[in-house]
Amino acid sequence: MMPFNYARARDPADAVRLAAGRTEARFLGGGTNLVDLMRESVEVPKTLIDVTELSQEITARDDGSLLIGAGVKNTTIAADRRVRERFPLLARAILSGASGQIRNMATVGGNIMQRTRCYYFYDESARCNKRTPGAGCDAIDGFNRIHAILGASPACVATHPSDMCVALAALDASVHTVSATGHRTLKLADLHRLPGDTPHIETELAPGELITAVGIPPCSFATRSVYRKVRDRASYAFALVSVAAALDLTDNGTVRDVRIALGGVAHKPWRAEKAEAALRGGQATEASFQLAADAELKEARGLRHNAFKIELARRTLVACLAELSRRDEK
Ligand SMILES: Cc1cc2nc3c(=O)[nH]c(=O)nc-3n(C[C@H](O)[C@H](O)[C@H](O)COP(=O)(O)OP(=O)(O)OC[C@H]3O[C@@H](n4cnc5c(N)ncnc54)[C@H](O)[C@@H]3O)c2cc1C
Repeated sequence: MMPFNYARARDPADAVRLAAGRTEARFLGGGTNLVDLMRESVEVPKTLIDVTELSQEITARDDGSLLIGAGVKNTTIAADRRVRERFPLLARAILSGASGQIRNMATVGGNIMQRTRCYYFYDESARCNKRTPGAGCDAIDGFNRIHAILGASPACVATHPSDMCVALAALDASVHTVSATGHRTLKLADLHRLPGDTPHIETELAPGELITAVGIPPCSFATRSVYRKVRDRASYAFALVSVAAALDLTDNGTVRDVRIALGGVAHKPWRAEKAEAALRGGQATEASFQLAADAELKEARGLRHNAFKIELARRTLVACLAELSRRDEK
């Protein structure tokens, strides 16, 4: 590991000031991803700006929305009564990830900004356009079992690894930030980018832009929701495919509204808008779930080792919708 400076930010403005003009600086959350990357020399920041003390509150509003500070630990969110009651899929998504010890350290901001788990990104001897722009991608013709089936490019087939972000994408969450140019709010679903020709630019955040909080708008039917994660081991493994879904049904079984996001399939948490559009206003039946999955996965493309994910995503999505349609809560 290379030597680096360490500074603890007093407040968000202090964090932004410490980061200003230092492209080689990184914000430090729980360090559960960043420090691993520093050990592998994939990340070599000259300055770490500790932001763990910032924004540790979860604020619940009467309209049903929540504002979660970027410094709140993953464990705290998953255990929060208001989160579990209003947005149970978020608690389930977080609890399906990592381990108890890691969730105790990991922050909301760090979870959102965690880097891909593509093996070639971590392996300094491999070619990786994300690590070294223009170097090439050894995953495309290599062992690509965990890689993307949607939205990939000839430059990069990596996936975004977060479970929490998949639930947040389904919940229409927003990300609040501050930078030298002021405050702004982005939709979480628009924060992460598809790889295109620039897979090293992973989000819409500018260098030195700090995430301060995540806002979740009211969603009355999120009580009828699910997060299902399919992986190689029952715990301590990243998703091959995951589905976050919430379903709002009328008394006669028509889909009034629906939210779906997929994980493990793309360079970003994948909001399944085509599937949602196919379902809205129709009857909730196994046949309509199949058609919705087909609509979403029509453009999915498999590589040598991951083509199974297309069928896996289809079956997992259909199974989640079927499970939700059988639940009797309103
Ligand atoms: C063995 C293992 C298994 C795991 N399994 C899973 C899993 O199954 N599912 C899953 O979702 N995750 C999993 N994880 C990943 C884990 O969730 C992340 O490491 C964690 O969420 C990162 O949070 P952190 O606070 O430690 O981030 P850090 O490591 O501190 O930071 C990560 C990145 O975020 C940036 N950052 C931090 N805070 C901010 C901020 N406020 N604003 C802007 N940028 C910021 C940092 O600069 C860095 O680039 C696993 C990790 C490990 C080590």
